[in-house]
Amino acid sequence: KEVSELIAAGEVIERPASIVKELIENSIDAGATIITVEIQHGGIRFIRITDNGCGIHPSDAPTAFLRHATSKVKNARDLDEIGTLGFRGEALASIAAVARVEMMTKTAGEELGTYVKIEGSELQEVRETGCPLGSTITIRDIFYNVPARLKFLKKDVTEGNAVASIVDKIALSHPEISVKLIRDNKVAFHTPGDSKLISAVYTIFGREFAQNMLPVDYELNGIKVTGLTGKPMFHRANRSMQHFFINGRYTKTRTCGIAAEEGYRGAMMVGKFPACVLELQMPFDQVDVNVHPAKIEVRFVNEKAVFDAVYFAVKSAVADHGT
Ligand code: ADP
Ligand code: MG
Repeated sequence: KEVSELIAAGEVIERPASIVKELIENSIDAGATIITVEIQHGGIRFIRITDNGCGIHPSDAPTAFLRHATSKVKNARDLDEIGTLGFRGEALASIAAVARVEMMTKTAGEELGTYVKIEGSELQEVRETGCPLGSTITIRDIFYNVPARLKFLKKDVTEGNAVASIVDKIALSHPEISVKLIRDNKVAFHTPGDSKLISAVYTIFGREFAQNMLPVDYELNGIKVTGLTGKPMFHRANRSMQHFFINGRYTKTRTCGIAAEEGYRGAMMVGKFPACVLELQMPFDQVDVNVHPAKIEVRFVNEKAVFDAVYFAVKSAVADHGT
């Protein structure tokens, strides 16, 4: 079977936040240690992502926008062993189909970089250019050519918040990367990239949150659970402060949320929902990331093993802390 057939066709681009997510994941895959995200008007008018990653070779720069032009999945087997974040080879193509895109990119091996301009899937310009190592991708006027989709975008502030929430999550899951978010010319946050989760948490959620966290470091069933979980007295009224990352990828998982909450059972809690930022490392074949086109939801091969790992990880962190 062809790889392209195995890849479920799915709508990748719904809103500015989905573009930002795909582009940042590409930057991470490219080995970037510094990533800057700029948006204007919630990203509807303008998105620019700058990274210091490996860049794209001049001969590959225009073709990167073709569907399934991925450099990451070589055969069907690779699909089961996805280590990189992006893998469908359709993000750039999908973005270029519904927006005006410009890219400047340069590899370490080349003296000159490449400038590519593409609008509504049509290549407008390709030329050599001087530019720093890495890639800068600018997206303007999302859905300019798809009015039916444009109509469904929310207000600028709502779309901007959705972008910020994605950038938060990526910054939290990669404390080794310095991430800067600029909204309408104002710096929203800038993480240091010092590899410490607590620094990223401090930068994004603030001092009170950071000072009320307990370290988590636990392993069970081949699943490693690390990160931070709230002191029992530090409560939140909802689950929006629960963040889970699996093998470096932000995920929505009820299993982990419930397991974390259960971990507080018996502890002195003021509110119902603990805050946490937890990273799970597990064998790639134990988790199916291919469930959802936007790659947020996951399916676990062994749900119970994951539940137990999170439950005991949180429980022991809370027990160590005492009450
Ligand atoms: P995928 O990430 O699934 O491979 P994309 O459409 O997102 O597909 O990207 C296509 C290709 O373009 C990638 O495989 C990669 O080779 C290249 N690419 C995209 N963005 C970057 C970047 N920021 N730095 C270096 N290479 C990139
Ligand atoms: Mg990608």
